[in-house]
Amino acid sequence: MKNSTNQAERNWAVQPCLFSDSEPVCKSGNWKRFGGWRGLFFLLLGILLLGMMVFAIWIMPTELPLLQAFVAAKVPGRSLPRAADRKPSVAMDEPKIRVNVTPGGEKSLTLDVRGKFRLVSLDREERFPADLSLTQILVTSTERGLKLGSRQTSSSRIEIQPVDSPSIRVNGHLYRGRIRLFRRTDGQVSAVNELPLEDYLGSVVDSEMPAKFPVAARQAQAIVARTYALYQIEHVDSKAVFDLHSSQRSQKYLGVEYRDAAGRRLAGESQSSRAAVQETRGMVCTWKNQVFCTYYSAVCGGRTTDGREVFKDAAELLKSVPCEWCSESPHYRWTTEISREEFQRRALRAASNSKKNTMIRAVHQIKEPGRGGISRFELDAGDQRPAVSGVELRDRLPAGILHSPHFHAKLEKERVIFEGRGHGHGVGFCQWGAKGMAETGRTTAEILGHYFPGVDLIALDY
Ligand SMILES: [Zn+2]
Repeated sequence: MKNSTNQAERNWAVQPCLFSDSEPVCKSGNWKRFGGWRGLFFLLLGILLLGMMVFAIWIMPTELPLLQAFVAAKVPGRSLPRAADRKPSVAMDEPKIRVNVTPGGEKSLTLDVRGKFRLVSLDREERFPADLSLTQILVTSTERGLKLGSRQTSSSRIEIQPVDSPSIRVNGHLYRGRIRLFRRTDGQVSAVNELPLEDYLGSVVDSEMPAKFPVAARQAQAIVARTYALYQIEHVDSKAVFDLHSSQRSQKYLGVEYRDAAGRRLAGESQSSRAAVQETRGMVCTWKNQVFCTYYSAVCGGRTTDGREVFKDAAELLKSVPCEWCSESPHYRWTTEISREEFQRRALRAASNSKKNTMIRAVHQIKEPGRGGISRFELDAGDQRPAVSGVELRDRLPAGILHSPHFHAKLEKERVIFEGRGHGHGVGFCQWGAKGMAETGRTTAEILGHYFPGVDLIALDY
């Protein structure tokens, strides 16, 4: 038996199954030995499976970039791939961003420019003396134009272009890049800082997230902040003189360093924040090949808010997702209160036919917080029963009363008590949740994939 098998093998070896000019040299004995029709079936099945595997690997870089990022992110010693390794990538120049660093406008602002600089009027033919000093001066606005210290100019828009950066301080904040001063129509002065996007992010990461948060969370913050900024650049009005604010109205940006209310000198960026930005350089979140507004908040309180509940421009992927990682935050659950008199005055503010001294007799919760939605209430004020959302009430009451739009309200004789969860609107990326996820070993890409289900990460190559 053994010999005959060897013989068959030899036959096979000297007469491979090829088609000659005259006839197939595949012998019937060999055909049967390899299983006949059954063998052919399994052979074709194998080829089919192999083909499917090759196809899946082939499409992975374009169809599943996040998966690719997961794989790359798990390479030991490298939490994310370098920009050059990432696919797909988009070649472009590094964008510049214009940040309004005086969001409310100011009657005057302090300016301090060290080293050499160039001063350019953006709206007049005005020239400035080469020896004009901008060391610790006050910038004010008059009917004629901007006033720099004691020098009255006829310009309403002036740009300061420093030779070395950072060297300009506005209201105690040291900024990289250029500063533009604007005389506003209401007589106030505004300052806009223009700088390269990655430099800007170096400060946003530290301004928005504590330095003690894990690296993966801070890298995710850098990607989210970069995407948010790019979305604003893309969607800002063409006549606007800035892209976003330096406050939480957009995202917090303190500059290179600053002084706090007590006069202490504090860093607005650090080696670690710059590293988080550098390690993710150019990386942004996309959905259906578009940069979307990557909304984020401090603490979601256990479940993120469905984006459409709060923002009209919320992308489809901003769905409510559970978050079991932010419970360490002091704002995971909270209780606050306000006097009943103030609540009545402020809560009824927007009701068109509200009379002075209208009493609110009861507050009916018509929608519970949770399951991705926000709280909604009906205010029972006798002849009128306006409905208000948690977002609207949060806007109407003083800052610090309602930390989020997710709460219950209890009316007492003299006061109103609120019991709520989370801090901020709760849509999208949860900063404390990212911290918790990173502490349990999740990678940057996994964190982003959780809060933005279906997100694609792409690299802008600049
Ligand atoms: Zn959370």
